[in-house]
Amino acid sequence: MDFKEKIRLIQDFPQPGVNFKDITTLLKDGKAFHAAIDQMVEQLKSKEIDLVIGPEARGFVVGTPLAYAMGVGFIPVRKAGKLPGETVETGYSLEYGKDRLAIHKDAIRPGQRVLIVDDLLATGGTVNATLDLVRQLEADVVGAAFVIELTYLHGRAKLPDLDIYTLIQY
Ligand code: 5GP
Repeated sequence: MDFKEKIRLIQDFPQPGVNFKDITTLLKDGKAFHAAIDQMVEQLKSKEIDLVIGPEARGFVVGTPLAYAMGVGFIPVRKAGKLPGETVETGYSLEYGKDRLAIHKDAIRPGQRVLIVDDLLATGGTVNATLDLVRQLEADVVGAAFVIELTYLHGRAKLPDLDIYTLIQY
């Protein structure tokens, strides 16, 4: 299936000059959504994975069906202040300003093999912050998987030690 044709491009969102890759058009197509998750599972089948970790919000949309299909648990990473239990946090820079991400302290046991999942890899800032959190919890990171990779932003270069799987590249 040509997944790229299911992605809608929206020029100048969320700000002038950005060509936003909208995955909602892929998600609403049941066959395409199913096939995309199946193909990601196929790419990852050689990996031993205990848990999928996904940052809000689109990391939940891709990460939870992937975890379900692989028969493993899902751990949410959220903006600081949103999770109810005890958390560890990390700061990260956005294009404009800074933000903080958090994960439950008891979400991962040391040595558990985790896969980080998000909808899209751009500069790598979000996945880098998520990596920092799971490393604080002494997880063994087996890789990161994304529906889309914006290769022209060179996110991979920021993540030299990580196995990265992507379905669609721009
Ligand atoms: P990064 O931190 O790698 O620069 O940006 C990736 C994060 O921003 C992801 O969590 C992703 O959801 C969001 N993001 C950035 N650009 C886009 C885009 O064009 N489309 C979508 N769907 N998400 C984007």
